[in-house]
Amino acid sequence: MATTQSLSAADIKVDQTQCFIDGKWVDAASGKTFATINPATEQEIAQVAEGDAEDVDRAAKAARKAFDSGPWRTMDARDRGRLMYKLADRIEADMEELAALETLDNGKPITESRTADLPLVIDAIRYYAGYADKIHGSTIPIRGNHLCYTRREAVGVAGQIIPWNFPMLMTAWKWGPALAAGCTIVMKPAEQTPLTCLRMAHLAQEVGIPDGVINVVPGFGPTAGAAVVKHPQIDKVAFTGEHRTAQIITRDSAETLKRLTFELGGKSPNVIFADADLDAAAHGAYVGLYLNQGQCCCAGSRLFVEKSVHEPFMEKLTALTSSRRLGNPFSPDTDQGPQIDQAQFDKILSYIDKGQAEGAECVQGGKRHGDVGYFIEPTIFDGVTDQMAIAQDEIFGPVLSVLTFDDHEEIIRRANDTFYGLAAAVWTRDISKAHDYAARVRAGTVWVNCYDVFDAAAPFGGFKMSGYGRELGEEGLKAYTESKTVTIALG
Ligand code: NAD
Repeated sequence: MATTQSLSAADIKVDQTQCFIDGKWVDAASGKTFATINPATEQEIAQVAEGDAEDVDRAAKAARKAFDSGPWRTMDARDRGRLMYKLADRIEADMEELAALETLDNGKPITESRTADLPLVIDAIRYYAGYADKIHGSTIPIRGNHLCYTRREAVGVAGQIIPWNFPMLMTAWKWGPALAAGCTIVMKPAEQTPLTCLRMAHLAQEVGIPDGVINVVPGFGPTAGAAVVKHPQIDKVAFTGEHRTAQIITRDSAETLKRLTFELGGKSPNVIFADADLDAAAHGAYVGLYLNQGQCCCAGSRLFVEKSVHEPFMEKLTALTSSRRLGNPFSPDTDQGPQIDQAQFDKILSYIDKGQAEGAECVQGGKRHGDVGYFIEPTIFDGVTDQMAIAQDEIFGPVLSVLTFDDHEEIIRRANDTFYGLAAAVWTRDISKAHDYAARVRAGTVWVNCYDVFDAAAPFGGFKMSGYGRELGEEGLKAYTESKTVTIALG
């Protein structure tokens, strides 16, 4: 394989394009396929099997068999962990190839795939590998002459549905805890980005994870995704995506009463107090919004700046943004690639139009970049007010809304004035202000004087319409277990 210096889309091999069911690569039962598109060139990369209800049914039955009677749940937990370490090692060995495949299918800059996505993927699988033999219950002193204890058991077959913004990382966040707990998996990757998830299934098989433990059915949400949600042999659904899809999933899963965990969207407040280190804060605001083309659920898309430092802060921020390099995601110098697809591209441009129509001032960007690929200039709106659409709605693109504030009480109220609650950040040198904000902001993650710091050990998830349940850390593992209480009469 060519080095990333000279890499182009044509150099990357795409070997896995079928459904992966019960350890076999198979076409969709319908024989249908769909195209996955390179968002930098708008060209087709490959045709991928378009799974639907029939394929999900086969996958669910394979996963059920592997769970009920198969080797995974009953395997010595330490050996389960050992296979997971092997998978992490294998991903690490193939890091360059996987990073290139991710960049091809998703459009994110190769430097980001290599230095952010891949290391976090490997970390998540290793972290949960270490948990496999440390999942245990407790003994409980109940009344009477009894021995009472709890067991933590795998929840069963886990249905997992993921979006396109971090395809490999979302796969790892879902597989890690499920595999450690002893669950088996039916995964539905996003239709825009199925390739790295399918490649990871191939690597999992190569390292010896038994057939039927991991099953992957590529396809569309209302067909393959809905079939996962409704399937009676699937016990739990872990979903990352839009809150509207989560509402559909909640309704569709009512019949089978699935255990649900949701990681949804956000409109995260990033608050800059006047006493902050303004250089660090400007850099945090820049990374916090533009990382991954602004396609991050936790993007700091509502940037609140204390009025007295608005001018110097904006100078620093616009200096950073104007030096941002857009273009070929395979170039190691590229900071920003294309948006994922035509639909997102159109949606983002329509929000830029709305911002202008509502009277915010577009101080940077605001247009398409180039004429091939879904590139959009890094865009900053100043003079935004709380009720504007660009301050309320998740845009999921490189569009930053800047608002100003005067005092501490006001900013707590305004930061919370959103129906989302995924992440929040604050920049200040005053430790009391930082703690007060951290305690009172209604969000699942709060960053103080930093942004986008992720770790496999730190739980991540949302308040309010940003979801329920947590991924990562011990809490993420618990979501793949059931607690069983055992009581024994003694004598
Ligand atoms: P989406 O909800 O449209 O799609 C996500 C997945 O759900 C895809 O695989 C899709 O095929 C599937 N799906 C769609 N309809 C379905 C249905 N009726 N039944 C079952 N599955 C269905 O979201 P998207 O636009 O692909 O992703 C962007 C969203 O994801 C944003 O809102 C973003 O904030 C969120 N997100 C959240 C996190 C987090 O951890 N909180 C992380 C990444 C992305």
